[in-house]
Amino acid sequence: MSGSTSLAEQLKMAGFRMTRQRAAVLRAMADSPTPLSALQLWNQAKRNCPCLGLATVYRTLDVLNMVGGVERCHAASGRSFVSCPPGDHHHVVCVVCGRVAEFSRCNVASLIPEVSRETGFHVESHLLELAGICPTCLAEEKAE
Ligand SMILES: [Zn+2]
Ligand SMILES: [Zn+2]
Ligand SMILES: [Zn+2]
Repeated sequence: MSGSTSLAEQLKMAGFRMTRQRAAVLRAMADSPTPLSALQLWNQAKRNCPCLGLATVYRTLDVLNMVGGVERCHAASGRSFVSCPPGDHHHVVCVVCGRVAEFSRCNVASLIPEVSRETGFHVESHLLELAGICPTCLAEEKAE
């Protein structure tokens, strides 16, 4: 996966230095096929960077979230983080193995006028995450 390289580039473009600590967090994220929580990332990243503190992991995740290479993911194991390509998309999370896929078709925007009428809010953004069973887990289920 080239995930960590592109994130490193995104960091640079946003004016952040690639520190050893940030690199260790990025690598831990790129090495995992499923989203990890800040604590899990910390435990992984400490292997490459023993001096890494949990507070630095949280700060790193905030920076990466701002830069646009990391998003929060809720369904998998509570509050986890996943590295993903920039751009407008949502996630569907496998409830069996925790893998995440991205999809870009979304018609939530068409609900907004109705929500605004009902609540009086001016709606500015939305979060959407779907949960289900991925093709790999479906195939394993059938094979049993
Ligand atoms: Zn994403
Ligand atoms: Zn799965
Ligand atoms: Zn959407």
